[in-house]
Amino acid sequence: MLFRDISPVLADPAAFRVLTDALVAGLPAGTDAVVGIEARGFILGAAVAYAAGLGLATVRKPGKLPVVRHRVSYSLEYGTATLELPEDTIRSGERVVIVDDVLATGGTVAATQELVEHAGGVVAGVSVILELAALKARDRLPGLDITALLTA
Ligand code: IMP
Repeated sequence: MLFRDISPVLADPAAFRVLTDALVAGLPAGTDAVVGIEARGFILGAAVAYAAGLGLATVRKPGKLPVVRHRVSYSLEYGTATLELPEDTIRSGERVVIVDDVLATGGTVAATQELVEHAGGVVAGVSVILELAALKARDRLPGLDITALLTA
């Protein structure tokens, strides 16, 4: 399996700024908040939220939260994964944009959408740096407004 690592991009000040600015420019009108997926989605999501003047809700891997609002388990290529949403991060009716580094099969974003909707939020968009098009995440995420800065 080929793993695409964005760490060098984060370490490059010009590249980090250009990508963050592009993610901010792609936010749908009326976005109320950013949702970052652990862990690289936290880094990008925090930068986007700060630059856009929005708050950041964090979707966590299991075992980190004292109080879990909702938990979703989903299938990966090999095995399963779980994501959790903390209490009091997404308000009912809030329009959020999910930010992550890579969109592969779409399972992680689908699980995050379920967490957002369980909290009463609406997914207004999904913003990633890189979409692995061959894995056809868009087929798994019908109706979502997906922005990928790069496609491989
Ligand atoms: P998906 O659920 O299959 O779409 O996988 C997306 C999640 O796995 C994201 O949170 C990514 O950070 C991570 N991921 C999957 N493939 C890669 C990759 O090639 N490079 C970096 N992260 C990846």
